[in-house]
Amino acid sequence: MTFATLGLIEPLLRALETLGYQTPTPVQAQAIPAVLAGRDLMAAAQTGTGKTAGFALPLLQLLTLEGPKVAANSARALILCPTRELAEQVHASVAEYAQHLPLTTYAVYGGVSINPQMMKLRKGVDILVATPGRLIDLFRQNALKLNQLQTLVLDEADRMLDLGFSEELANIYRMLPKKRQTLLFSATFSDDIRLLAGQMLNDPLSIEVSPRNVAANTVKQWVVPVDKKRKPELFVHLMRKGRWKQVLVFAKTRNGVDALVDKLQGLGINADGIHGDKPQATRQRALDRFKASDVQILVATDVAARGLDIEDLPLVVNFDLPIVAEDYIHRIGRTGRAGNTGEAISLVCADEVNMLSAIEMLTRQTLTRKMEPDFEPEHRVPDTDASGQVVKKPKKPKKPKTSGGGGKRNLGKWVDSGEVAPAEPSIKPVRKVPVFNTGPRKKK
Ligand code: AMP
Repeated sequence: MTFATLGLIEPLLRALETLGYQTPTPVQAQAIPAVLAGRDLMAAAQTGTGKTAGFALPLLQLLTLEGPKVAANSARALILCPTRELAEQVHASVAEYAQHLPLTTYAVYGGVSINPQMMKLRKGVDILVATPGRLIDLFRQNALKLNQLQTLVLDEADRMLDLGFSEELANIYRMLPKKRQTLLFSATFSDDIRLLAGQMLNDPLSIEVSPRNVAANTVKQWVVPVDKKRKPELFVHLMRKGRWKQVLVFAKTRNGVDALVDKLQGLGINADGIHGDKPQATRQRALDRFKASDVQILVATDVAARGLDIEDLPLVVNFDLPIVAEDYIHRIGRTGRAGNTGEAISLVCADEVNMLSAIEMLTRQTLTRKMEPDFEPEHRVPDTDASGQVVKKPKKPKKPKTSGGGGKRNLGKWVDSGEVAPAEPSIKPVRKVPVFNTGPRKKK
């Protein structure tokens, strides 16, 4: 199968040739004809599957061949993305695909001044990529009208809900024309996503290109058990031992990112960090420098986990496991993209065992554990498997036959590790919100 046989027009084929895309990926093969035929779409596609081109190519074609010229302060197609970085990246891809077409494209997101965005929208844009909050601001300030909108794309819909955008999505839904095409892309399909799909989509075609909730099999994954306090030391040890060249590292908190970056920089290692507290320009610069290989180690919170496409990234390290198990799939989806192979290593301490178990259950696999000599944890990480079972306490050895019994025996250090599974924060703390509730927005 070729892109030409899918019915794409010549200017798009030319752009794809320049980009070196020869064969459509499975999601593209299914999505392109359906979108060209005007269908709504509900697509389960994980990152790295080529889903952006899957929606962008037919969308560009429809806008080129159909519909009126874009009016002032209007958009003909809207692509909603959960994060600023993803909005930038999707926009960059769309602009590349559109390079030979007479269409205008633009991306808007928060964290930067709204005025230049309002100016840019004056003439109208054919395709607008936006994060939900900024889109609503622009709409409320009359900088954007949506009555000309013919297509809405919800990219990484599950992430938008995870980030607490359900109220914004409900507001945007009310701003849209009833007659439109809607394409929903999500890596995972929770009940909330299905509810959202039920409200926003009209007789959608369902596409599933890989088994649901399964991480890309081009990524070799394993776990290194370690005590929490020794994680930084283990990271540096593994980095030196493996001669890691370029690594994306995920930490749970903003403070965690800063602490690890400080530690690495203190050792003369070329590292930088991105998280939600940093200004957008700083985040983008760190990401650009990492992509250009000017930075060797990029440490990030989950704000960077979704959708970011970093060419040939060989390795992702989970310095901390994610609290939401689905994020594991997105994090490791930064490697092994577009047919390349990659590695994902997770440094796991005893009090992350419930997260590990949730990840194994979600991905339906028991992750291989590799002990690193000299870093064996004092607090043993209890056994887990894909059934979701956590063996909290190692079996005690048989009672030694001693006279007088009842006294406390010295059973060795490992027996104490029965205390290793303290209550963990709930594995899925943020997802159980009805999609269109009107409650207060969750903080990102
Ligand atoms: P995505 O899942 O949309 O983020 O795409 C992942 C990566 O695959 C991006 O770097 C795309 O440029 C690349 N890509 C998408 N479609 C193709 C294709 N048909 N052939 C080769 N590379 C592709």
